[in-house]
Amino acid sequence: MKKKYSLNGYFFFLLTKSQKSILLFIVVYTTVRLTGQQNKNRGGYSMDKHELSQKIKYKAYELGFAKVGFAPAEDFTEYIQEFESRIEDYKFLIGGKNDTLKGSALKEAMPEGKSIIGLVVDHSKTCYPEKLSKSFGRAYLSQSYMPKDDMIHGARIKLFVDYLESLGINVAKNIQMPDRYACAKAGIVTYGKNNFAYAEDCGSFIVLKSFLIDQELEYDESSVRCDCPPNCRACIDSCPTGALYAAGKINPRKCFMFGMMRSEYDSDVREKAENRIHGCDDCQLACPRNKSVLQKATQTNPFLELLEKEFDLEKVLLMDDEYYKRVIYPIGYNYITKKEIFQRNAAIALGNSKDEKYIPSLLKAYEEGNAIVREGAAWALENIRKEK
Ligand code: SF4
Ligand code: SF4
Repeated sequence: MKKKYSLNGYFFFLLTKSQKSILLFIVVYTTVRLTGQQNKNRGGYSMDKHELSQKIKYKAYELGFAKVGFAPAEDFTEYIQEFESRIEDYKFLIGGKNDTLKGSALKEAMPEGKSIIGLVVDHSKTCYPEKLSKSFGRAYLSQSYMPKDDMIHGARIKLFVDYLESLGINVAKNIQMPDRYACAKAGIVTYGKNNFAYAEDCGSFIVLKSFLIDQELEYDESSVRCDCPPNCRACIDSCPTGALYAAGKINPRKCFMFGMMRSEYDSDVREKAENRIHGCDDCQLACPRNKSVLQKATQTNPFLELLEKEFDLEKVLLMDDEYYKRVIYPIGYNYITKKEIFQRNAAIALGNSKDEKYIPSLLKAYEEGNAIVREGAAWALENIRKEK
């Protein structure tokens, strides 16, 4: 039977040996380039998921993250159910930039989303200066919680995202996943009854970050569970306001930070604030899961030591913009965005001291401050006077 050749085949048959070699080289080279470009356009290189996972883990550790884990990007059904069962307590989050209910609908945020990356920043090794830690929560002092892009931890996150993107990975923007749940899905933290996330060797003195991406990875085993001893309730008993009322249940309105960051600051809560002006750590400090971690917290932080020398509640009450920018903003940049809220919180802390020596400063703040500061100063003066 006569053999049939296609026109291309016939043309190839007529070429010399060296012409065939050149043509073959051109075909192979063009195919490789085109395939690479198509992969790139689809948002990924032709790297297998094991290799990609390894590369991402290496980079995360190189950048100083303490833990990194991966989970498949499935909607957070369990989280959504829990949130909706407590919708009355948490509806203040809905529609805001921390809307974690919206951030739980992963498919809506990124239909092509394949994986979650969870990261842990460990700040448990720091020995926090005493005066500062009586007024600020440790996570805030660590400067790693919701860091700005021009801060060291913000730059670290940006470097990580840049790296993912350099691999052709698309990272979902404008989604705030519930980081604790995302990181537990990624197997790097477990829950405490105090609602905080705990990582091995770091306790709860960690800050979490999670990303949704469009590439498949090798997944870690989920650790969505509470690892607390069954009979322990030290955190619940230590909560000064009763905000933490049962295992894993908190009334956010009674937790200090809720009022501290708003112009309305509940008087039942503020009178328990003592020196605090930005957060509270009591339910973490009382926790046996943090005991050995706290014993190992010996790293000093020269910047915080410098700030502590300048930090003084009376100075905060009467601070000018320069003091605010230099001493308060670097550790109080995230939730409270107005100087006068810090001044009001300082007035309340001074009022809680019941010490008459603060009366002149409180009177000055009352005379010179705006409505928020005046309200705080008046409350503090009343609190001190009723002690007499
Ligand atoms: S942070 Fe403080 S106020 Fe809030 S639940 Fe814990 S102990 Fe209570
Ligand atoms: S104090 Fe006890 S119950 Fe509370 S988080 Fe720690 S181990 Fe769990």
